[in-house]
Amino acid sequence: MNLSDSEIVASVMLANGYETTTDINEAGIIFLNTCSIREKAEQRIRKRLQALLPLKKKNPDLVVGILGCMAERLKDQLLLEEPVLDIIAGPDSYRDLPHLLEDAGDGQRGINTILSKEETYADIQPVRLDSRGVSAFISIMRGCENYCAYCVVPYVRGKERSRDADSIIQEATSLFESGYREVTLLGQNVNSYQWKTIDGTVNFATLLERVAKINPGMRVRFATSHPKDISDELLQSIAANHNICKAIHLPVQSGSNNVLKRMNRGYTREQYMERIEAIRRIIPGCALSTDIISGFCDESEVDHQQTLSLMEWTGFDFAYMFNYSERPDTLAAKRYTDNIPPAIKEKRLKEVIDLQQKLSLNSNKRDLNKVFEVLIEGPSKRSPLQYSGRTSQNKVVVFLKEESKPGDYVNVCIEKYTSATLIGEVI
Ligand code: SAH
Ligand code: SF4
Repeated sequence: MNLSDSEIVASVMLANGYETTTDINEAGIIFLNTCSIREKAEQRIRKRLQALLPLKKKNPDLVVGILGCMAERLKDQLLLEEPVLDIIAGPDSYRDLPHLLEDAGDGQRGINTILSKEETYADIQPVRLDSRGVSAFISIMRGCENYCAYCVVPYVRGKERSRDADSIIQEATSLFESGYREVTLLGQNVNSYQWKTIDGTVNFATLLERVAKINPGMRVRFATSHPKDISDELLQSIAANHNICKAIHLPVQSGSNNVLKRMNRGYTREQYMERIEAIRRIIPGCALSTDIISGFCDESEVDHQQTLSLMEWTGFDFAYMFNYSERPDTLAAKRYTDNIPPAIKEKRLKEVIDLQQKLSLNSNKRDLNKVFEVLIEGPSKRSPLQYSGRTSQNKVVVFLKEESKPGDYVNVCIEKYTSATLIGEVI
């Protein structure tokens, strides 16, 4: 999501006569687009800001700005704490950056952390920062109002709002015409996408189908689906369209009903399992990935074991796994105590990661000797003789180049695997 936002920022800046550079020493302005989801993400930014001090000393005209969630959360407090900063801009104020830069040029500091109820940057054509030109993100909504107890997002990204469906279709069409072959529709809870027109309401299932119909040669992915409202209608749309990828990211967070309730997730373990069964029934062969938080307030050993058993039952293909990190002002910070000792959090997280490693390995093992349609993304990291691409199930496949190029589809037979990668041969 931040990459996608940075592409909007680049577009605003380009329209105002600025250019981007990949050489930090050449830059007159440096923006850091930030995340507040866990304390570690913020600590990393603090270190980056420190590292910029010598550059600023060398070039006093250098302007440094902090953008995004951390700017929103800490506002002008950051000006006191980080003397390197000239600009503070929250996620809804990117159109204002040229004015903030003028303020900074006048020797003041530019700050705008006003959250909007309407801003979706719908009319801004993002400048693509990933130079490979095969796969792009399209932001379809902003903000979140789910208020999961642990989560800072509703406070730093504001009210949920959906973007004009036509502008999304237009963006996806123009990406296809410039050679892109995959788009990922982004939102914090894409299931609640809703755009009202005089002809009725466009929901997420309809939007997804409309994007898929642009061209069968363009794959469509999406993130993130919330387990509490992923509908059968959506699953049927995925099943009915070859180019809607057969991979669903469905963050469960915990396998324990007690914990889920305290997290304010809005579903139970049983309801989550029922949704997994529906996915298996409606979209056979669909990959499943998830997010897990270990060590949430009051999590007992029994709760933790329930997370492990749910992971095992589902057999996730992939997972993002984190230790709980208390975020100031969230419901959990106000209501509960962050009372799981760090050593226990670490131990539980390690068990979660070890189990997922085993599940991912099993999942890849099941793909052995099968043939998958792979969209080539570019050269593999390991060897210039190999390409790397993805299956519809979102698994990375590496294979010898042959007569193909990035953006092409090839059929690859899987011959070897690790827990992270499939290795195969074009047939
Ligand atoms: N909107 C998405 C999640 C966005 S945040 C959803 O609801 O699924 C991405 C992930 O970060 C979350 O799924 C959660 O697993 C993790 N996360 C969020 N807040 C966290 C916190 N305070 N501590 C640890 N992990 C957190
Ligand atoms: Fe955070 Fe929950 Fe919203 Fe996801 S749905 S962004 S976890 S509040």
